[in-house]
Amino acid sequence: MNVLERQITYGPFLERLRSAPARVLLLDYDGTLAPFCVDRTLAFPYPEVPPLVVRIMRKGTRVVLISGRPVREILLLSGICPQPEVWGSHGLERLKADGRYEVSSVPAHKDYLLAAETMLRDAGLGSQTEIKPGGVAVHWRGLDPAKAERIAREVPRLWKPLLDRAPLRLLEFDGGLEIRVAGPGKGDAVRAILKECEPGAAVAYLGDDQTDEDAFHALKGNGLTALVRPQSRPTAADIWLQPPHELLHFLEEWLRASGGQG
Ligand SMILES: [Mg+2]
Repeated sequence: MNVLERQITYGPFLERLRSAPARVLLLDYDGTLAPFCVDRTLAFPYPEVPPLVVRIMRKGTRVVLISGRPVREILLLSGICPQPEVWGSHGLERLKADGRYEVSSVPAHKDYLLAAETMLRDAGLGSQTEIKPGGVAVHWRGLDPAKAERIAREVPRLWKPLLDRAPLRLLEFDGGLEIRVAGPGKGDAVRAILKECEPGAAVAYLGDDQTDEDAFHALKGNGLTALVRPQSRPTAADIWLQPPHELLHFLEEWLRASGGQG
């Protein structure tokens, strides 16, 4: 894992992008295209992002949003129209660009997830709790730091008996924690998409969070990976982009390399 410097450029990748037989742009949502927001239901993208992504799609790039959020939330929040392909719930759900929807069957761990939810509610964390396909999340963004720290410490202890006996795993993300069925992750989504790509396709993945590290590893050697964050941190990504300006610049360069105007 490296802590990246700002000076690392992606010129050689853009060069490849210009002549590639296919272009594939994989994008995380929260923290990458949309700044964090205390009210998760109001996490809209940087205003320049939706029109830029639409123009990139029009120039023939396959754009895929890959998120821990359910697909329906990504559709509502992202405001990208026509809708791109979306892999939601860490890849459990998939909405194709033509509107076809697939959901992997969630292993029968409903009782365990229900127990995880009940534990949070019993601990007075009902308003911090989110039920997702295949998972239960607790959020602490916006809480005072002492309370956030206490939740971050106590919830893994609460859930430990479940983690010990059920095929569930713990996922840390920026501003919270999720317990979810041991199923696909973002790395699996990237591997599945790579299999569908034609040889020589230029592929990039942009993400900000720990859950994106899986995706960075999955794309290693087969494309460009970018950590999108105000501050750098140890990461497997190839480059670091500070949002929003460097993110927007990257998207404009992508558009230009595809034959569109930046
Ligand atoms: Mg994110």
